[in-house]
Amino acid sequence: MMTNIIMLGPPGSGKGTQAEMISEKYGWPQISTGNILRHAIEAKSKLGLEAESYMGRGELVPDEVVDGIVAERLSHEDCRSGFILDGFPRDLHQAHALEEIASIDHVFDIRVPDQAIVDRLSKRRVCDCGETYHLEYNPPRAEGVCDECGKPLYQRDDDNEGTIRNRLKVYHEKTEPLIGYYREKGLLVELDGTRDIGEVFDGMCSRLDG
Ligand code: ADP
Ligand code: ADP
Ligand code: ZN
Repeated sequence: MMTNIIMLGPPGSGKGTQAEMISEKYGWPQISTGNILRHAIEAKSKLGLEAESYMGRGELVPDEVVDGIVAERLSHEDCRSGFILDGFPRDLHQAHALEEIASIDHVFDIRVPDQAIVDRLSKRRVCDCGETYHLEYNPPRAEGVCDECGKPLYQRDDDNEGTIRNRLKVYHEKTEPLIGYYREKGLLVELDGTRDIGEVFDGMCSRLDG
């Protein structure tokens, strides 16, 4: 039995937060294309150099690049009983590429209106270990320090208002059509992402356990 999941939703809707919680509870790996790309930038690899300017502008990194990363990652042993894709696919081309290599069981669409997104992302703080916090809604126990690993938290370069606006525009143009695409396939589960983190999580668990 496999359980293959896609997290869909605008930037800042809570995909990463929820994917991590599902991963923790059920044991399937969280595969965040954004985190993979940020680590590549950090490492100054060829991939990182290619991705950096797109990410800085809030544009999508070219499909050929991202499709390859995901295909490679999904071939690992730890994906055999399931996986959680966080941030992929982001356009129809990527959805078609994914179809060639894996079947999907649930697509969680976390809905949050644009007005809430700038607040969410400008107060987001992250850690290199992958943990995500929010200054008001999900603060760390000690200010500026990761609960999990003790490293200093920082703000992502692309979490500034100008880039956030462009990411939202890209989301509406390129990613939002995936909602209809997966609804037609009967895979879509809509969630109200303005509710508390725990409430959104319960909605996913009842689908997964049901
Ligand atoms: P958020 O969760 O806030 O939307 P991500 O960490 O998922 O941010 O993505 C950050 C950036 O990384 C995106 O704006 C884009 O430039 C790039 N990126 C991440 N995933 C993909 C993808 N599947 N296709 C193309 N670009 C991607
Ligand atoms: P995404 O991966 O979709 O970009 P994140 O999981 O990084 O989103 O969440 C974006 C920001 O909003 C983070 O600061 C996170 O702590 C916060 N957050 C996530 N879910 C909720 C929620 N249900 N209510 C309030 N804040 C949330
Ligand atoms: Zn950490």
